[in-house]
Order: sequence, then C-alpha cells, then structure tokens
Amino acid sequence: MTGRYSEHDQEHYERPRRRTRPRTKERPTYDDAVDGVVVTVDRGRFTLLVDGVTVMAMKARPLGRKGVVVGDRVRVVGDTSGADGSLARIVEVTERLTTLRRTADDDDPVERVVVANAEQLVVVTALADPAPQPRLIDRALVAAYDAGMQPLLCLTKSDLADPETLLSTYRSLGVPWVVTQRGGDLAAVRDRLRDRTSVLVGSSGVGKSTLVNALVPDAHREVGIVNAVTGRGRHTSTSAYMLPLPDGGWIIDTPGIRSFGLAHVQPEHLIEAFPDLDEMTEECPRGCTHGEDEPECGLDDAVAEGEADAERVQSFRRLLAARTASDH
Ligand code: ZN
Repeated sequence: MTGRYSEHDQEHYERPRRRTRPRTKERPTYDDAVDGVVVTVDRGRFTLLVDGVTVMAMKARPLGRKGVVVGDRVRVVGDTSGADGSLARIVEVTERLTTLRRTADDDDPVERVVVANAEQLVVVTALADPAPQPRLIDRALVAAYDAGMQPLLCLTKSDLADPETLLSTYRSLGVPWVVTQRGGDLAAVRDRLRDRTSVLVGSSGVGKSTLVNALVPDAHREVGIVNAVTGRGRHTSTSAYMLPLPDGGWIIDTPGIRSFGLAHVQPEHLIEAFPDLDEMTEECPRGCTHGEDEPECGLDDAVAEGEADAERVQSFRRLLAARTASDH
C-alpha cells in the first residue's frame, strides 16, 4: 500500500506546473555586451578603452540620469570597432569600489562624483616654488579618506627644499610619501603606482604635468588619438583623463581640480579612516563630531589616559577642521 502511495506522489510532483507568476516586461539582458573602462568624458560623450581599442560611446537610455565618470567599468553594446564616426552604447555601470567626490564649493551642497574605482589619491606638492600649501594638502587628504582611497604625498622639487618640515606634519597620520627632484629618477613613484589606479591632484606649477609625461612617455600621443577620434581638437583641460601605465596600473590626471569642496563629508565618516581613533569614540555623546571644541569627546579621554597619541589626535582634528575651512 505504502508503495502505491509513493508512486502516486511521484507522479503528482512530476506533473508540469502551471506558470503562476504573470510575465513581467523583461529588461534586455545584453548578452552581447562587452567590458570597457571610461578614460575620459567630454560633453556627454565617453571615451572608453575596450580590449585596448579607443571607442566612443554614449549612455543608453535605460541608464537614465545615472552618472558615468572616468574610471567607471562599464558594459557596452553596438559598434565597438573604434572606427571613425562609430558610436557604442553604455548599457551598464559596474558597482563602484570607490568614489572620489567633491562639492563645487563648501557652501554649494551639490556633490559630484569626480572619479570612480581609484584606489589611491596622489597629492602632488612642490617643496618650494611654489611653497607647499598645507591646507590644500589637508583638504585633499580628507577627500581621499572620505572616498575610501589611500593617500600618497608626492613631494616634488626636493632639490630646492628639505622635505622634513612638511613631512613632520603628516607623520602622525601615517600618510605614505615619496620625494622627487627635478630631472631625478622616478623609481620610488613608479613602485607606488604599479598595478593600481591612482588619481593625481595638485595645483599648477607643482610639476604634476611633468610627472604625468615622465610616467607615461606617450601621454600626449594617447590624448591626441582620442582627439582625432572625437574631432574636437585639444582635449578640454578641465576633464579628468585616465592613462595606462607602461608597468601596469593606471593614472588619472585631473587638470580641472585645484581644490576640493568638502561640504558632503560627514565627520563620523572621516574618523572611520582611522580605526584606532574611531575605537576611542564609542562613548562619545550622540552627535559628537570629535572636534577640538567638543566638551565630552572620547578622544580627549583617550589622550588623557595615554591610550591615544596626542599628536595623532591633533592631526586628525586638524583634518576635521580643514573640512570646513575655506581653501581660497
Ligand atoms: Zn567625539
């Protein structure tokens, strides 16, 4: 008897099921899409590298208002031949690992994503001529920490001034650094850039362009190829531009960025870049920004009890203050 019932059950389960869910309007799957990376953006046109080929593309309609920025990994359909006048379509943007943002000004709350998926923010600063601007460096560091990027200080023109004075300011924060001199060897810089994606920022005159040209000997030629494709003459000097490094990795030059508006940065987010300090703030009153003026900040207790390094706390608070200080 039992046997018969199991047979019956078996039969029951094998009966074809009726489709219970109504068919929904399915989104296209883009099985034929290929991977690309956005190397520059110019007036709604995107320059991609697809398998080493420079391809022009536009956003496909399903992306709507979603922003596509330099460094984005994308999926592309259509004409990816890179031939003159060809135009592919970006149908998907891969989830970003990091997003470097800025607000145009501290009092302008509009926040823009500048670069996606970069791992390192290289703050290029001359040790002299022009003199370093610690406030600008601090603000760039805040932007890096907020973006979840590793900062790197690249101090140029060390033949003109000793880096020690400047470095002493950043030592307690643990910011890594490299020093270069005019006409000097760039091995240390290359080591720091290899196999990762780095964004270079720096004011004019600090030697950033010289550095880019030395790191990517055919940088001008590569930018030239893109301009030939777009037919737009000189590359607009305000757009970020990503270049592959000969030894592996990428650099992104940002000619248009001279400062970082930081209105979007939350203090509670900034301290997460310093896990050892973050740990000391568990007892902080609600809404504590961990700044100098906070009456009951756990960082003060930690310093008083010898659990935190006073200089490190002070440096962190300097960054916190730089968030709201003007950089003009
Ligand atoms: Zn606090």
